[in-house]
Amino acid sequence: MEIGFIGLGIMGQPMALNLLKGGHTVHVWARRTESMAPLVQAGAKACTSPAAVAGQADVVISMVADAPDVEQVMLGKASVAEGAERLGKLGLVAVDMSTIAPAAARAIAEKLKARGVDFIDAPVSGGEVGAIAGTLSIMAGGSADTFAKALPAFQCLGKNVVHVGTSGAGQVAKACNQIVTGMGVLAVAEAFNFARQADVDPAKVREALLGGFAYSRILENHGQRMLDRNFKPGFKAWMHQKDLNIVMQTAHQRGLCLPGSAATAQMFNALVGSGLGEEDSVAVLKLLERLSGADTPAA
Ligand code: NAP
Repeated sequence: MEIGFIGLGIMGQPMALNLLKGGHTVHVWARRTESMAPLVQAGAKACTSPAAVAGQADVVISMVADAPDVEQVMLGKASVAEGAERLGKLGLVAVDMSTIAPAAARAIAEKLKARGVDFIDAPVSGGEVGAIAGTLSIMAGGSADTFAKALPAFQCLGKNVVHVGTSGAGQVAKACNQIVTGMGVLAVAEAFNFARQADVDPAKVREALLGGFAYSRILENHGQRMLDRNFKPGFKAWMHQKDLNIVMQTAHQRGLCLPGSAATAQMFNALVGSGLGEEDSVAVLKLLERLSGADTPAA
């Protein structure tokens, strides 16, 4: 299949590589052209704009940052929609795999539909590790027909591919994922800070907890990163703040009570406000240490 890929960051690079490994022809575009070099070396074809990508592909995937970025590459100047219109590619499938608000995904789907492009929101969970291994969890929203057209691409990127429901449903599932993972990262950081301040080795605590009900992939993987004081992103703290903001905005619109998410969102606000936004979200441990007046290990 001819697949377009837009946005070649921490997640996008390995995802586009896996599409190539899956035997697809991959047409890439990134706003910093140097990001395309490793993909081109691996056999991808470089394009000059999202519109040019749309001209070459049956399915175009975006993996950028937030809703305004998706709007820009899908609907703005030299966008996917512009390319599809110019080249008469009716029925082109556009897939956004970034994490954005469900309402924004629905609005983008409608605007694309009006311009002859079918849209699927398909955010992911599993992080950089899952993106490299091709084991992402993919949660999709859109029509069954459009989902079926994008499925061969999804099968190269993930192991757990779920068609959750209609447009925006994938992003609702992803917001749920961020509620659980946001609180999970904060919970592990709190536990480790508590252990250290109570004069117990957090590594031993992690080892003990891994065999009981407190087990989670977050305790295992993010917990190890905290013990290693490895704050290289991964998943940038400002991205997690963005995602919890999506959760809180959606809760506000619907009048929902989310006390755990609200407290977690405040911690991620403080993390970004402390100048740690570009570090991995496990840096929330550093914030807790500072708030506890702890004599922290060197960062
Ligand atoms: P990243 O490393 O910052 O990559 C984002 C890429 O998108 C960058 O290469 C950036 O280009 C490009 N981009 C952003 N806005 C753009 C625009 N308006 N036009 C063109 N290109 C644009 O972030 P990431 O970690 O790969 O995350 C990407 C998305 O996946 C986010 O929505 C994030 O929430 C989600 N996600 C991330 C993870 C994770 O563990 N990292 C896990 C699940 C989901 P530049 O390089 O020029 O800045």
